[in-house]
Parts: sequence; structure tokens; C-alpha cells
Amino acid sequence: MNWQELEKQVYMGTFSRLPVVFVRGDGARLYDELGKPYLDLVAGIAVNLLGYGHPAVRRAIHEQVDELMHTSNLYYTTPPLRLAKFLVDHSCGDRVFFVNSGAEANETAIKVARKYGKLHLNGAFEIITADHSFHGRTLGALALTAQPKYQEAFAPMPPGFKYVPFNDTAALRAAVNERTAAILLEPVQGESGVRIHDPGYMRAAREICDQTGALLMCDEVQTGLGRTGKFWGYENYGIEPDVLSIGKGLGGGLPLGGIIVKEKANVLTPGDHGSTMGGNPVACAAGLATLTTIESEGLVENAAAMGTAMQDGFKMLMEKHDTIKAVRGMGLMVAVDLHTTNAADLVKAALGKGLIINNTSPETLRMVPPLILARSDVDEAVGIVDQALAENKAPAAAHG
Ligand SMILES: *Cc1c(COP(=O)(O)O)cnc(C)c1O
Repeated sequence: MNWQELEKQVYMGTFSRLPVVFVRGDGARLYDELGKPYLDLVAGIAVNLLGYGHPAVRRAIHEQVDELMHTSNLYYTTPPLRLAKFLVDHSCGDRVFFVNSGAEANETAIKVARKYGKLHLNGAFEIITADHSFHGRTLGALALTAQPKYQEAFAPMPPGFKYVPFNDTAALRAAVNERTAAILLEPVQGESGVRIHDPGYMRAAREICDQTGALLMCDEVQTGLGRTGKFWGYENYGIEPDVLSIGKGLGGGLPLGGIIVKEKANVLTPGDHGSTMGGNPVACAAGLATLTTIESEGLVENAAAMGTAMQDGFKMLMEKHDTIKAVRGMGLMVAVDLHTTNAADLVKAALGKGLIINNTSPETLRMVPPLILARSDVDEAVGIVDQALAENKAPAAAHG
């Protein structure tokens, strides 16, 4: 079967996929149809926290499939309550609501902010987000996403959203007014290439919200669950948000998203919100097995150590290759900025050499590997990027 040809015929053309068909995974490795192994530093876009085929996750899924797969939220089931308990015990929040994706998590956060504004802030409804943010593809989440390239084709956006320059405390302060119901920030911006706020900026956001009563919300869909070398991204800044949206790795590789709220933001009441599949027992069982394994195997600490090792490795390459402009990261969210615009070529070259990386723009490579990454994997990855850089010289970027 020519799968690439079939995709062209029967699938909507929204993805520009790389020419590889994966059929199997094991640990931090994927295997294609011919059995060729690839070291995976993308992990299903920051989803596969334990890599592929972790026995604890497989066992949890098998057992739950055999017992009960879905009932709806008209009744009680145990896996979502167990997972909610874990999340409440391991976060600054008090209550959880489950949906199926990161976008839906942020949709839920929008509804929380608006209801909170109605109840407690004289009808304030505006939500402030930062330039270059990414919060998902549904219309509300898209309105949160302050990137014109994602919004233009689908204008007009729903009203009630306001954008501020990234990491600019004065601009944030100036943007907040009596209409502001919430500020929503990614602790580290993921999809726009691992942009990290100054700690002072996040603390100022917290202070501003404390002064006005607006909610501080963190989109932890990518940064949560150990990714940044702490269990939550917000911990890196010494603050606590009122609402967190979560997703990506939450379901251990199955679709699951959610929000965690502090008691003050527990404003949704019966009839306000729902989800047919949200909190699906199989996804929640997989998620709980994933999170308990992250804890029992010390993978948050491993993410911090491997993230530092990876940044050090790429910084060494800077001395060899003029192409590299900057290396930055937090835990296992690592980016390499280039002086050139051939990041996509480097991604393809690395793929040919058995390494999966990703580029968030023509000038930025991004790595969000599984948290189980070993030191030898880091060395292998840096070695392959070294070769790819040596073999793929490109003219400097116009503005570089
Ligand atoms: C991926 C991502 C989303 C969207 O998640 P989906 O599951 O694709 O809807 C939202 N916010 C952030 C920060 C993300 O990285």
C-alpha cells in the first residue's frame, strides 16, 4: 500500500507530513515500515512522556479496556476520580475537569474566566494573552492564540480577547483594566519555539491579578507534567496560577485534556459545561499510570538533568558551527536558533540519519523528547545534529 498516495486522496490537506510511516515504538525509539530505528526527540509533540510501550501504561490500558471503556459523565467511574485526586495532590489547584484535548482545556478556561468575571468582577470578560502564544485550534482557543498566521483565514475572531507583547511587564500592566477577567500565559511558549519569560514577568502577572482580582491562568498543556524539569512550568517562576490547562501527555498517549482550578475559580455549576468523552476511563487509567511512573522513576529530575545535558551539547556545537545563533531551554523543552533559514532541511537530514527533531520556524529547531531520555540518547542526538549541520550549509538569513 502506498500510504502517502492514499493520504493525498482521502485526507484533508492540512498537514505537511514528513515522508515516513511509523509502525512501532519502544522506549525513546520509533521504527518505520522497513524496521529502521529513529531516536525520537519530538515524542508525539510533547505527548509521550514515558516514550513508547512503557509496561505500566500498557498494563493500565489493557486492564481498563477489559473492564470498562466508556459510560459518559451521567454516572461515576473510578479512573477520572483517581487521576483528579493525583492532580489535586500534586498541584496548587483544588478541583479538576476533564476534556479531550488542549484546545478544549483552554475553551473550558475561557468559560471559567467569563463566568468568574460575571460573578466577581462586574461583568469583566476580556482575556489577555501574549504575542507568539499558542493555545489550540478551536475558535475560542484560536482567539487566545496571538498569532495572525493562524487566525487570518478564519476571521472574525470571537470578541473579548486582547494581546500584549511577550515578556513586557509595563505593557501587561497597561493592558489590564476593569474589563479584564483573566491573563492566560504559557509558562514557556512551546509552539513558537521555546520562549521563556523572565521570572519577574510572571511574578508581575501574579501581582497584577492579585491587585485587580483577575484570574491568572497558565496554559500548561506543553509545560506541565515534568517537561520543564519541575512538575509544573509555573514552579520555575515561584508563582501559583488560579487555573491551569493541561493536555498533551496527560492521557499517557491517549486523548485527554483538562483544567485544574483553585477553589476561588470553581465557578462552573450544573449545566454550565460538559463533555461526552471527557474523563474517558481508558485515557484516565493511562494517564494515572504515566504520572505515577514519572513520580516513582524520578523522571522530573531526569528531565532537568537531560535538558541541561542537551543544552550543553548544543552549546558545544555552537563553537563548531557558525550556523547556530542561540541555544535555550527549560528542562526537556530545548530550542536551537539558527542564523540560517534551513531548519526544515536539517529536520529532514536528521530524519535520514535516524533522529526525529522538529522545527517551529525556518530558523528554529525544537526538541521535546520523552522524559525517560538517557545520557547516551542525548549524546547520540547531538552527534547527529552535528553531522546534519556539517552537511547542510545554507546561506545566512536575510536579517541574520
Ligand atoms: C498543543 C498545545 C495546545 C493545543 O492542544 P491540542 O490537544 O492540540 O488541542 C494548547 N496549548 C499549548 C501550550 C500547546 O502546546
